Amino acid sequence: MKIDHIAIVVKDLDQALDLYTKTLGFRIVYRETIADQSVEAVGLEAGDSIIELLRPLAEDSPIAKFRGDAATKLHHTAYRVDDLQGELQKLKDRGVRLIDEAPRKGAHGNLIAFLHPESTGGVLIELCQKR
Ligand code: ZN
Repeated sequence: MKIDHIAIVVKDLDQALDLYTKTLGFRIVYRETIADQSVEAVGLEAGDSIIELLRPLAEDSPIAKFRGDAATKLHHTAYRVDDLQGELQKLKDRGVRLIDEAPRKGAHGNLIAFLHPESTGGVLIELCQKR
């Protein structure tokens, strides 16, 4: 598995983008709203991987509550797989608790599924399959 993206939830997206593009020199690959996760996502190119900045669309959403008062907070790491449904079944068979039993649509046209942090040492892990 390769790192597909690292997602960071931010309070002020414009300020975060200034840092990541103007100061750090990353290039924007995509910017879109993911309605079912209630976020605006901006993908920044980092070699073969993406740094994804997430801005909650509502301050009472779970992701905004996760960020709390922090300006930015690491939200999840996402690993790229070729067969998402097959990987989910394998992990389930190994006793891993899944948030998503079946793949769903993520940012940038990817299929994604989250594993439960309870099964992954507290870190939210996403598996991601390119379309
Ligand atoms: Zn993600």
